[in-house]
Amino acid sequence: MALIVQKYGGTSVGSAERIRNVARRVAHFHKQGHQLVIVVSAMAGETNRLLALAKELSPNPDPRELDVVAATGEQVTIGLLAITLMEMGLKAKSYTGGQVRILTDDAYTKARILEIDEAAMRRDLEAGTIVIVAGFQGVDADGNITTLGRGGSDTSGVALAAALKADECQIYTDVDGVYTTDPRIVPEARRLSTVTFEEMLEMASLGSKVLQIRSVEFAGKYKVKLRVLSSLDDPESSAPGTLITFEEEDTMEQAIISGIAFNRDEAKISVMGVPDKPGIAYAILGPIAAANIDVDMIVQNIGASGHTDFSFTVNRTEYAKALAVLADERGKTFAAREIIGDNRICKVSVVGIGMRSHVGIASKLFKTLADEGINMQMISTSEIKVSVVIDEKYLELAVRVLHRAFELDKEPA
Ligand code: ADP
Ligand code: ASP
Ligand code: MG
Repeated sequence: MALIVQKYGGTSVGSAERIRNVARRVAHFHKQGHQLVIVVSAMAGETNRLLALAKELSPNPDPRELDVVAATGEQVTIGLLAITLMEMGLKAKSYTGGQVRILTDDAYTKARILEIDEAAMRRDLEAGTIVIVAGFQGVDADGNITTLGRGGSDTSGVALAAALKADECQIYTDVDGVYTTDPRIVPEARRLSTVTFEEMLEMASLGSKVLQIRSVEFAGKYKVKLRVLSSLDDPESSAPGTLITFEEEDTMEQAIISGIAFNRDEAKISVMGVPDKPGIAYAILGPIAAANIDVDMIVQNIGASGHTDFSFTVNRTEYAKALAVLADERGKTFAAREIIGDNRICKVSVVGIGMRSHVGIASKLFKTLADEGINMQMISTSEIKVSVVIDEKYLELAVRVLHRAFELDKEPA
């Protein structure tokens, strides 16, 4: 008997029939004698619908109220799944994030989990009850409803698995594992039977939405056994999905590059003609950080005649806010000739721990893009990844040609 946390994403609970399918899978595991905590997302499209409603009524909705609205999607699916399981004769009980007491900080719309009270869940599990928890949500110390950022149900699942010291956390979605790249963009993408934790962390942080980055961080910190699987195949099938591994030895025979990630959610801001002197980066990015805006890539040109250009990327949802912050600070903390924004960019990255021991990955990437006439606007590298910012209109082409150039469609030798 094992304690298993299963998380089902939006498509997996997207209709009454799909919820019934989830219930069948849960019943199958329950019959095998496992203790189960089930985390569900809102029905596919529901969170978007709720956020759009709020935006229709206000261009800039209050974040606390936005979370009050957004969290309702998951409340519907926990109740529906509990009803379905009970209809099948099983004991089930639903919990919102607040009812469990998934305590978070108060950073509305992107809150972080601080603590989980597992006592009530444990009591239910001991009594043979299937516990169903709303993903994506928590509660702050004052009892306000918070949400964990888009895709946050993955993080709810892994955090619950960590708190309960579960034997495994299974992330059920609409693909049967982690692929070399998004199979929607490259049909030849290949499922990886294993991927190292470090590679998964990079892929998630670089935009592979199959797992939310914080869920991977949690898995690493608490060594949660994490697997990505499909919810759409036969509930009784035992397809292996993709296991996130922590052992380096597993990777010895792996390809140099494991995957290609991309991100359309970024925007670039360039502050042109700033004085080339110590403290300028802080003068520009300090106020951005103070406004709780995350900065991703940063590039500073080599200065000429005492001036330089400074560019960085932020999430597109924070683009307008970042431009407003800079407009406000310009002339106060820094001087600039011009501030230019571009929100039609994307970032494409190749990831692989094999890069540590192989050279020439970056140059191969540059040549492949150059052969297609794709201009790189920004470049950044780390030990196991190379990322470039390009015009959004070349995204699919770039991912496809890189997938082929790095032979990701072929099994590693
Ligand atoms: P869920 O609603 O179950 O959380 P998501 O849409 O968040 O599902 O994540 C699954 C989707 O992630 C897939 O349908 C796929 O298009 C996309 N995806 C992006 N990169 C990858 C990848 N490397 N491997 C598998 N899926 C990926
Ligand atoms: N329903 C939330 C979203 O759409 C959380 C999730 O699906 O993980 O972002
Ligand atoms: Mg998701």
